[in-house]
Amino acid sequence: MVLRRDRYRCQDCGVCFGARRRKVYDPSLRRGKGGYRWESLEVHHIIARSLGGSDHPGNLKTLCPSCHALYTQEQAAARAADRRRRESMLQALDKLDNEDDGFNEIYD
Ligand SMILES: [Zn+2]
Repeated sequence: MVLRRDRYRCQDCGVCFGARRRKVYDPSLRRGKGGYRWESLEVHHIIARSLGGSDHPGNLKTLCPSCHALYTQEQAAARAADRRRRESMLQALDKLDNEDDGFNEIYD
């Protein structure tokens, strides 16, 4: 089990939960009066499963929810950048097609 291997510690910021869950004080709870809520350690796929990453322990690491959120954001941003790259490539291909058309017209 990855959580036990990592000693219930976030592998990025080093915060130690001591167990799978811990109680944390959240000042934003109860309309700003503050309160406790449970936080669970999360298991992060170093290579996202959507990119072919496996469930092998070598591809897994224990993260606290706030560190995990950063990774999720990063991966979402990377996916968005990928999409933009593909779109601009398609646009470039479109342009090439159009230039081909112009080229053919000269010889028609
Ligand atoms: Zn952390």
